[in-house]
Amino acid sequence: MELPPNKPRAIITGASSGIGKATALAFAGAGIDLCLISRSQDKLIDVAHEVKEYGVQVKVFCADLSEVSTVRRKVQSIVQEWGGIDILVNNAGIAYTNLLRETPLTDWEKVLNLNLTSVFECVMGVLPTMRTQGKGTIVNVASIAAQTPFPEWGTYAISKSALVTFSQCLAMEERGNGIRVTTISPGAVNSPLWDTDTVKVELNRSAMVKPETVAQAILQAVLLPQEAVIEQLTITPSIGAL
Ligand code: NAD
Repeated sequence: MELPPNKPRAIITGASSGIGKATALAFAGAGIDLCLISRSQDKLIDVAHEVKEYGVQVKVFCADLSEVSTVRRKVQSIVQEWGGIDILVNNAGIAYTNLLRETPLTDWEKVLNLNLTSVFECVMGVLPTMRTQGKGTIVNVASIAAQTPFPEWGTYAISKSALVTFSQCLAMEERGNGIRVTTISPGAVNSPLWDTDTVKVELNRSAMVKPETVAQAILQAVLLPQEAVIEQLTITPSIGAL
């Protein structure tokens, strides 16, 4: 595994906690400059302080990505300021449990907007530049729920399976332009996602994969030499689905 000759620049969404924060730290350890996007300015600044210990450049960008009409412009402005972009990690997402018949339209839209449409908009914010450069790596964080839907996880599973299909189509359309697309589908990961008020499930947290382990897998995918791509990666607790 090797780094590109110039110092790479990565945008990571949802970098204030869990997998996104762990990925920011793993990327920083590998010498990758970062732009971290999330909702909470305070949490992002804390992550940025930790990241700076590795001697990389870090910008923070506070945004609610579920407000999808503003996302593309924000991402374009980051890319413009940097004068290029090497890696985009679309990690921000919410989990949501509810019976489909009891899911209000507003909840459905919130999940789909963040987990799917904001990814589309982030990708469209970097794609013209990656195409001009003739290279770039996009990592989309999906879920095993995309492959194996569970009752009460319908809205979430639909958002993630659509994300997987989006990633596959994007990979096919853009691989000829030097753009690599990786979809990572984690099983249960011990992140703050399980404490959010849209998830009503109790699972054995200690049996879950650590966010740092997922982050290492993302880093390895990104650092593969340019001639190779990991298009699909599933990572689950070694004891199986919880
Ligand atoms: P997390 O709750 O710790 O992190 C989610 C991140 O997304 C946070 O930084 C949060 O601030 C950000 N975010 C949420 N809503 C946002 C919004 N509207 N605008 C901008 N940022 C927003 O959870 P996590 O487990 O680290 O989740 C990261 C990704 O991994 C998600 O896409 C999730 O669906 C996926 N995933 C998680 C698990 C798991 O078991 N934890 C399993 C499979 C997939």
